[in-house]
Amino acid sequence: MNLSSFIRDVPDFPKKGIVFKDITPLLQSPEAFLHAVRLMAGPFRDKGVSKVAGIESRGFIFGTALAQAFGAGFVPVRKKGKLPYKTLSESYALEYGTDAVEVHEDAVEQGERVLLVDDLLATGGTAAASVALLRRLGAEIAGATFLIELAFLQGRERIPDVPFHTVLRYD
Ligand code: AMP
Repeated sequence: MNLSSFIRDVPDFPKKGIVFKDITPLLQSPEAFLHAVRLMAGPFRDKGVSKVAGIESRGFIFGTALAQAFGAGFVPVRKKGKLPYKTLSESYALEYGTDAVEVHEDAVEQGERVLLVDDLLATGGTAAASVALLRRLGAEIAGATFLIELAFLQGRERIPDVPFHTVLRYD
């Protein structure tokens, strides 16, 4: 199955010059969605993953499916100010200014093996901040998996010490 045919390019969204990779056609196809989740899980089977951490918001879609596939728990990594309980926060640089990701302070136990999930890796800023945050909680990062990598942005260099996997690569 050619999964890239289920990804729609939307030029100039959310702002001029960005080509947005829209995954909703893939989600609408039960076969494509299942195939994508299986391929994202591939290298991390039998790696002792006990929690899957999904990055808001499209990382929740794939992350929860992966958590169920692994029989693991799910941890939402959210944008600043969204989580109700006590949080840990990690900020990262944007093109203009900064943003932050947060998790609940009791989301992960010391030494727990966590798989990080998002739909797409671009500059890697969000993923690097999420890895740092989960490590501050004592997590061991079993890996990071993405459906799409925008390889020309070299985001994977931001998480050099993390076992890394993507299904679709755009050069
Ligand atoms: P980054 O921190 O630059 O790696 O950005 C990654 C986050 O932004 C992910 O949560 C993506 O869903 C989203 N994102 C960045 N660029 C795009 C794009 N061209 N199309 C769709 N989502 C994107």
